[in-house]
Amino acid sequence: MASPTPRPGILDIKPYVPGSSEAPGATRIFKMSSNESALGPSPKAMEAFEAASRDLHLYPDGASTALREQLAEIYDLDAGRIVCGAGSDELLQLLTKAYVGEGDNIVQTDHGFLVYALAAMGNGGEPRFAPEKNLTADVDEMLKLVDDKTRIVFLANPNNPTGTYIPDSEVRRLRENLREDVILVIDSAYAEYMEEPDYADGAAMVDDFDNVVMTRTFSKIYGLGGMRLGWAYFPAAIADVINRIRGPFNVSAPAIAAGVAALEDTDFVAKNLEFNRRERDWLQQQLGGLGLDFVPSYGNFILVKFPVTPGKNANDIQSYLRAGGVIVREVGAYKLGEYLRISIGEEDGNRKLIELLREKFGNE
Ligand SMILES: *Cc1c(COP(=O)(O)O)cnc(C)c1O
Repeated sequence: MASPTPRPGILDIKPYVPGSSEAPGATRIFKMSSNESALGPSPKAMEAFEAASRDLHLYPDGASTALREQLAEIYDLDAGRIVCGAGSDELLQLLTKAYVGEGDNIVQTDHGFLVYALAAMGNGGEPRFAPEKNLTADVDEMLKLVDDKTRIVFLANPNNPTGTYIPDSEVRRLRENLREDVILVIDSAYAEYMEEPDYADGAAMVDDFDNVVMTRTFSKIYGLGGMRLGWAYFPAAIADVINRIRGPFNVSAPAIAAGVAALEDTDFVAKNLEFNRRERDWLQQQLGGLGLDFVPSYGNFILVKFPVTPGKNANDIQSYLRAGGVIVREVGAYKLGEYLRISIGEEDGNRKLIELLREKFGNE
C-alpha cells in the first residue's frame, strides 16, 4: 500500500537527543546535561519577559530590529547583515536548507556538534567527519574532505562536546584554502566564555570575506535556552537569502524583549563568566585529584573520560550519578562512548558531583 514517504535520507536520521532532565528517586536534582547557565537567566531578561506578556496578542517585529541594532552597536557590526532566529539552531538549519541539497556534502569535525550533520541529512546531503587531533579540530584533515560537492564547512569554536578550540590563525587558514563558493560557518556558541588572546569569534572574518558566517546564541552565558534565541552575522548576499526563506515572524516578541534586556545586563554576564571560570577550575582540579582524565575546557562544561571497567565506565557512572540526583550527558552519539559531558552546575551541584565521584574513585 502506498503511504506518505519523506525524501531520501530523512529516515536515516537519528533524532537529536537533548540532555536529559529526569532523575527518579533523587531528592534534589542538578541538571548538568545541557550546558545551561548555572546562574539561571539574567534577572533583567526575566523582567522584560514578564512585561512582554501584556502584548502577547501583537505580532512581533518580524525583523527583530531592536535586537539587531543593539547587537550591532555592542559588537560594532552591520545591523543589516544580522539575522535573528529561534535559537542559533534555526539559523544553522536555514543555512543548510538554502545551500545543501541532494548529492551535496558538508564537512565537520569528527566529534563536532551534531546539529550540522542532522541538518545536512534532512536536506539530502552527506555529512563528512574529519578526524581530530587531541579531540581538537584539525584544519588539514577538514580540507582533505572538501570536494566539488562540498557546500558548507561547519566549525564549532570552541566545540561542544569536546570543549576545545582552534586559534583565529587556524580558522583563517581553513578559509584561505576553501573555494570561494564553499561557506565556512563559525559556530561561536561559547564565544562569551573565551578569554584567550589567540581566539576570535569570527565576526571580523565575516566582514573580510563573502563566504564566512558566524552564529551566536543566547542559550549559554545569557541563560535563555528556553526562550529560543540566537543570531548570525552574514555577508550581505547570504543575509538576503536567509531573510527570504525564514518565517516572517521567526522570533517571538518576548524573545526579542528578553534578548535586548539580557544584552543590557552586563553585570549578569560578567558574574556568570567569573562563576564559570572559578567553578570549572575547581572541578578540573577535583577531577584530576580523583585520577580522572578530562579535556581542559573553554566552555561551560567539561568532557570527562572514564575507565572501561564495569561499574566505573561512562554508562554506569551516568546511571549512578543520576540516582544521586546529578544528571550528566552521555556522548556516545559523538563517538565518545568512554566520556561524559558534565556542564558546570550551580555550586551545590558541582560539590554533589565530586562527592558522588569520590565514592567511586576516591581510593585510586
Ligand atoms: C548550545 C549550542 C548551540 C546553541 O543552540 P541554540 O539553538 O542557540 O540553543 C549552538 N552550537 C553549539 C556548538 C552549541 O553547543
